Amino acid sequence: MSVRGDQLAWMTVRRWALWQLPRRSLIGYVLTIDALALGGVASSLSLISIDQDNAVPFILLTSCAVLYTELSRPIERMRERYKGTPFIDLNSVWMFAAILLLHPALSAVVIIVSYFSRWVRVRPNPLYRRTFSTAAAIAAGYAAYAYLVLMSGIPFSRMPRNVDSFGLVVSTGLVFLIVNTILITIAVYLGTPHKKIRQALGSPADYALEAATIALGIMMAWALVDWPIALLLIIGITLVLHRSVLIRQLRDQARADAKTGLLNSASWSKDAAEELTRSPESCTALLMLDLDNFKSINDRHGHLIGDKHLRGVADVLKSEVRATDLVGRFGGEEFVILLPNTTQHDALAIAERIRRRIATVATDGVDTVTVSVGVASHPEHGTTLDEVVSAADSALLAAKTAGRNRTLLFALPPP
Ligand code: GH3
Ligand code: MG
Ligand code: MG
Repeated sequence: MSVRGDQLAWMTVRRWALWQLPRRSLIGYVLTIDALALGGVASSLSLISIDQDNAVPFILLTSCAVLYTELSRPIERMRERYKGTPFIDLNSVWMFAAILLLHPALSAVVIIVSYFSRWVRVRPNPLYRRTFSTAAAIAAGYAAYAYLVLMSGIPFSRMPRNVDSFGLVVSTGLVFLIVNTILITIAVYLGTPHKKIRQALGSPADYALEAATIALGIMMAWALVDWPIALLLIIGITLVLHRSVLIRQLRDQARADAKTGLLNSASWSKDAAEELTRSPESCTALLMLDLDNFKSINDRHGHLIGDKHLRGVADVLKSEVRATDLVGRFGGEEFVILLPNTTQHDALAIAERIRRRIATVATDGVDTVTVSVGVASHPEHGTTLDEVVSAADSALLAAKTAGRNRTLLFALPPP
């Protein structure tokens, strides 16, 4: 087994990547959750005795975690080629089964093995991140365990197999999901302060996947109590699920513009045309934006800084509109935003707000760049997407001609 240099960097405390995090509050938060998990494990060992029955499920679940890491390596290698895709794991299958079945200290060991076998064998990321994910899962697992004990008092293995127990176990899964999500979202939010909470959250598909792996964890715990060989089926299902995540990520990747993460031009046009067809009666606004004299940024600071600036602008665009609005990169430094159910009047106000925000974006201390915006709306300025785009384009051209750094609404030619 080869160990990479970045995996060894943890040996020098002063060089820990943790200290490079952008905010002290984030470092404090990460260390607090790590300490909380460690304290939880220590106190569970002193408060609760370990049951003999735990030995077989503990060995099986730990082996599953290690074996699964090996089996899923070909899928992970494929995902590795598409850097930038969010790292989603399916560890909750073994982790949640362990929380239901084992002494809390042993379930913590299963969680640690799940995360760290992958850290060593699959995708090494900074140790503090892996430790934080592990600590957050342990803390969420303990919250779920405490909930189960308080509500039932009977261990999972001896619970009657009735509707009440089913409801209780499912709600324990929800506690695990919610607490884990809150702990992770706070870290993402503190790590990227410009983000709104909405952007720090995962997509509904991410939560559906997490819920599915927790559901498989319940089946796993049930299998280990009643019919352990069935765990082979669960490993198979988990591998298929893992592969489907890869396919979803590749599909998302194909829709996105690689430089900015916004929709690429083709996907934006397809989604925008669908939106207009879906609601032909309602008013929909379109903003077309082109950065002013952007060429001079490239000429003075180089294309890499230019690219970074484009990403900063894209982040601003996303953060200034609703999740349902369609933001795309139309061409080089031209962007388009479709605003469903928005009047011309509101669209002008939104465009002005965006124009003022963009003028404050400075990348690496580079000069700021202003933007010109053309606004058009459906159905007043056109009934098809092409007509509305062309109207917004004319308004944008008029804004450029009038001196740049302004927003103009498309003016219909006099009858
Ligand atoms: P204006 O729009 O105000 O008329 O002037 P401009 O300098 O922005 O001119 P225009 O929109 O015609 O030119 C776009 C420039 O944007 C050309 C190119 O240098 C730059 N550009 C286009 N795409 C990219 C890109 O992906 N990365 C970088 N760094 N620059 C790009
Ligand atoms: Mg331009
Ligand atoms: Mg341009």
